[in-house]
Amino acid sequence: MTKSEVYFGSLFHGQNNFGSALGAKLDKIIEKLDFSTIEKKDKVAVKMHLGFRDGYQTVPVYFVRKVVEAVKKQGGYPFVTDNPTSVYNAVNRGYTSETVGCPIIPVAGIKDGYKYEQEINYKNIDTLDMAGAMHDADVLIDLTHSKGHGCNGYGGAIKNIALGAYAAQSRWKKIHGVEQFLPYWDKDKCSPDHAKKLVEACPYKAISYKEEEHELKVAFCMCNQCMECIEADKGVDSLQIKQENFSSFQEILAIAAKKVMDTFDKDKQFYLNFLLQITPQCDCMGIAQPVMVTDIGILGSRDIVAVDVASLDLIKKAGIIPNSLSPIFKHVNWNMEEDLHPFQRVLGKMKDPYIALRYAKEMGMGTYEYDLIEIMSAEEMQNAEPIKHTYEGEPSFF
Ligand code: SF4
Repeated sequence: MTKSEVYFGSLFHGQNNFGSALGAKLDKIIEKLDFSTIEKKDKVAVKMHLGFRDGYQTVPVYFVRKVVEAVKKQGGYPFVTDNPTSVYNAVNRGYTSETVGCPIIPVAGIKDGYKYEQEINYKNIDTLDMAGAMHDADVLIDLTHSKGHGCNGYGGAIKNIALGAYAAQSRWKKIHGVEQFLPYWDKDKCSPDHAKKLVEACPYKAISYKEEEHELKVAFCMCNQCMECIEADKGVDSLQIKQENFSSFQEILAIAAKKVMDTFDKDKQFYLNFLLQITPQCDCMGIAQPVMVTDIGILGSRDIVAVDVASLDLIKKAGIIPNSLSPIFKHVNWNMEEDLHPFQRVLGKMKDPYIALRYAKEMGMGTYEYDLIEIMSAEEMQNAEPIKHTYEGEPSFF
């Protein structure tokens, strides 16, 4: 099987100058990805997450601007895009048209209603509303902040377009709602008092119960599979915490992302993952979080599966920074005999971040096999001619 190329710029630098640091490496990755397939006047969607509230740990504007400038050099018309809330208050986190260098547009219009219906027919999802700005664009640049994700285990390139390229009702109700499709609670076995006991048993407040309707719900995004509810349910056996409920979400991510990719020519899709500020939960949380894995660098590929697999592999290799997790994570699995990804150790085994990628591979969205090509490695740059470094060059007041 042919391997996909994944270009990697490490944060480790081999010379003490800007010419061998991460900005220069991003320029090189863009060169390797070859933006020449972007044609003059192409409308180029730079899809990123602009964060919410004080969720400032997103892709730094410095790098966004570099990507935007590279698109303009090809004669394309770039626009940065995300959900309307994130666009509306992006200025709070430093993103403006002036700073990124191009317009910032809500992905499905100002009321999240500009959309194209897509047939899906997966479990309880008949259709999804693809965001209009994504659908209309000629080129996709999937600019992703790699981090953990409460439902999927990983917020990467697939998640960025699977959720981020759909209008509100599809994003929040349909895609997130798919986890509820497979039954996991037997209401006939469970009395209201027992249901309340189950709610109390959950240390993550993932279980809710409406007595009037006698309806119990598990919010799987908040569940870390500690199984304390199952312990409390012993003898009644009304509740199940199953892989299938998590996997439904992981599978719909791949399906939704593929629909988006299908609206672009193969040679007009670019994937850039930023493995910086790797937090346990997604940017959608809108909160500052301790970084759980050390900053790694930037990965670029034309293969969405390969870039996400390579990112996860590098994160796994780096491991969790000791004492970096907030006390809200009460059941971190530190048993190193178990082969788990750091995101599984924190968010629970069933949130295996590779599952969505396996579905994506089966759907032909990309390959699992990749060549990691490190550009301007620290070792290479240490052996290269020194690059002249200036401290204050533009303008000089001296
Ligand atoms: S498994 Fe743990 S986290 Fe999940 S619902 Fe049950 S008690 Fe809550």
